Amino acid sequence: MIARVTLELAVGREFDYAVPPELAGQIELGTRVEVPLGRRKALGLVTGVAEASGQTHLRPILRVVGGPALVTPVVLRLARWIAEYYCCPPELALRSVLPEAVRRPEAGWRQRLQVRMLPAQGPFPKLTSRQKEVWHVIEERRSLPLTELLELTGATISTVRRLEDRGLVEIVPQIEERDPYGREQILPSQPLPLNEAQARALAAIQQALDNPEPGNETGPEAGGREPAGSSGLPRTFLLHGVTGSGKTEVYLQAIAAALARDRGAIVLVPEIALTPQTVERFKARFSTGPLRTLVAVLHSHLSAGERHDEWHKIRQGRARIVIGARSAIFAPVQRLGLIIVDEEHEPTYKQEEAPRYHARDVAVVRGQMERAVVVLGSATPSLESYWNARRGKYTLLVLPERVDQRKMPRVRVVDMRQATRAERGVPVFSPQLREAILQRLEKREQVILFLNRRGYATALQCPRCGYVARCPNCSVALTYHRAIAQLLCHICGERQPAPSTCPTETCRDPAIRYAGLGTQRIEEALQRQFPRARVQRMDSDTLKRKEDYRRILGEFRAGRIDILVGTQMIAKGLHFPNVTLVGIVHADLALHQPDFRAAERTFQLLTQVAGRAGRGEVEGEVIVQSFTPYHPAIQYARRHDFEGFYEEEMQYRAQLDYPPYSRVALLTLRGRNEDKVKFVAEHVRRELEQRLSGWSDLKMSGPAPAPLERARTYYRYHLMLRTRRMLPLSRELGAWLTGAALPEDVLLTVDVDPVTLL
Ligand code: ADP
Ligand code: ZN
Repeated sequence: MIARVTLELAVGREFDYAVPPELAGQIELGTRVEVPLGRRKALGLVTGVAEASGQTHLRPILRVVGGPALVTPVVLRLARWIAEYYCCPPELALRSVLPEAVRRPEAGWRQRLQVRMLPAQGPFPKLTSRQKEVWHVIEERRSLPLTELLELTGATISTVRRLEDRGLVEIVPQIEERDPYGREQILPSQPLPLNEAQARALAAIQQALDNPEPGNETGPEAGGREPAGSSGLPRTFLLHGVTGSGKTEVYLQAIAAALARDRGAIVLVPEIALTPQTVERFKARFSTGPLRTLVAVLHSHLSAGERHDEWHKIRQGRARIVIGARSAIFAPVQRLGLIIVDEEHEPTYKQEEAPRYHARDVAVVRGQMERAVVVLGSATPSLESYWNARRGKYTLLVLPERVDQRKMPRVRVVDMRQATRAERGVPVFSPQLREAILQRLEKREQVILFLNRRGYATALQCPRCGYVARCPNCSVALTYHRAIAQLLCHICGERQPAPSTCPTETCRDPAIRYAGLGTQRIEEALQRQFPRARVQRMDSDTLKRKEDYRRILGEFRAGRIDILVGTQMIAKGLHFPNVTLVGIVHADLALHQPDFRAAERTFQLLTQVAGRAGRGEVEGEVIVQSFTPYHPAIQYARRHDFEGFYEEEMQYRAQLDYPPYSRVALLTLRGRNEDKVKFVAEHVRRELEQRLSGWSDLKMSGPAPAPLERARTYYRYHLMLRTRRMLPLSRELGAWLTGAALPEDVLLTVDVDPVTLL
């Protein structure tokens, strides 16, 4: 037998090694091994086994590192698929499916010395009074950690050793598991009786769990239709439920259904929604009863030791449920039956460094490989997923109403052009928002003010009429470059001089410029206009430590804060019954990003933020301030009309052949010398044009300066490739990359299915 080994060093290929007879029983897919490499030794992972090799004179594997295989064969296949589809070297893909903490040879369980009472044998030995004292404690506790015993009795270790010598106790090392949520008090919870829509959704998922039909492995590709199971429906579900419709309860009962069938589950939630509150909801449900199991938690804030322990709990099958952020999709759950991706539209599921995988799409692929049921849930599904549901690739499940028929909040859109004219300048708060805040403060209700500040590029917007300069070729906002007084398209490179007055015939205002606002400015305005209100700002500047987030939310919940001001951080999944007003200070910020998804992001954001209002007894209100109040993204969000938005937005995507109608590969070239970067980008374009000249459905745009033109002293240029079927293009790009001779000081990255065009 021979083993194919992928080394942890970046070498981009596998090596064959002989399996010596004494290791034969221990080598399988996923085993970590030490192998000779030249005159050194190297660590690697067995990524293939075969009877024979094409090579002769194979050197033997030296030893097995660690215990049993740490990645399951399916996860190894998943890593291969990631390397291929996302154009990255296989060792990088492998590295991301197996966390550092588990890979390191020195990582391990934490051991503590435990003192245990032994069954009595023969006559009880004579003890000193000190020894007796210690013995009584041990007798009472039967077993306890040595450190605790010493602390309790004030004795020294030699006293305990005497007792060991006399055969009364033993001192043994014992594994002590680190539990990142160990100190939480968790009260068990019972399944809630479902409403009709929830029950229908659950029934469909259960039916799919009962029909484990093999799936094909097309991945998140545009083409292939998933073969229907015997139930006649695809086994990937899109659960479209408005905010507060009880999606989580459906997840919990679906997991219970999987456990009852002896299958495990993975739940993905966006990192920022992975709060102790969320984790507790899952732990509480499965902490007692016949389906009782550990719930492992994986996210980036765990210590290496915690991560190691959580990983092994899963591998050993003691934790049948895993809840985690992006990388939890690689958890080695045995007999995986269900994968849930909550808030599936969230861009944070995309890893922004190589391998640039999208965890939602990886979830769908893993589901197909393991015959697991996949549930993608959201109040604002991505257009990609909704389209897949529309054309029968996924099964659509709908929760159209909030539980208990609680009303959706009323959304009012305020025209900031009017406010600007009235106040002769751009105010932070319109009179409507100011009045609404005042009312809540009087009634002792709470307010959330939201400002989306993400994004680097600034559009040119007229504060009087709302006009925004757009690219004639790409239908995205042009970016204003103040220094050179030019407008630039960051997709195709179109350039125009910046106008000195507003181009709108009836406006001609010379004040056309970008109206900048930050959370800090909002905070100041609040303190000026509502000096008695207790205001707290929450953004990445004010959250220095990991406890800050919890502390602030705790104070808000307890009513010690009247107004919470924040960025997208507060848009997700939080539930505050006393919040009756949500203000969105500048809805246009997200709208004019030079990205074809700008409208979609704005719609999602407004809907999600609006969902924070009116979760208690009192009906909620949302006030949206905008300079373009009639933009479809804003108007459809106002009416809670996802379908309407979808129809309209899809027309625009079709016209310009943007996703989901096409798939994008975004090439970024960066370097310190701008001319050189530009030159190389043009050269790359010519090479690719030549290489891909036979492709009928390929569109290439650029090179154009990236919206984030200069990052950490690097100049960045983009080339955008669009096609219907990505996998063949990925293969071509991968092959080309291996042979491409680029200058050393210009770096190239490939991002397949990018979620931002920055
Ligand atoms: P979503 O995830 O769709 O925003 P949640 O699952 O958080 O909604 O549900 C919102 C609230 O409604 C939660 O407090 C939840 O406990 C409650 N809830 C969910 N389903 C039911 C039900 N069938 N009956 C009563 N309350 C429910
Ligand atoms: Zn353009």
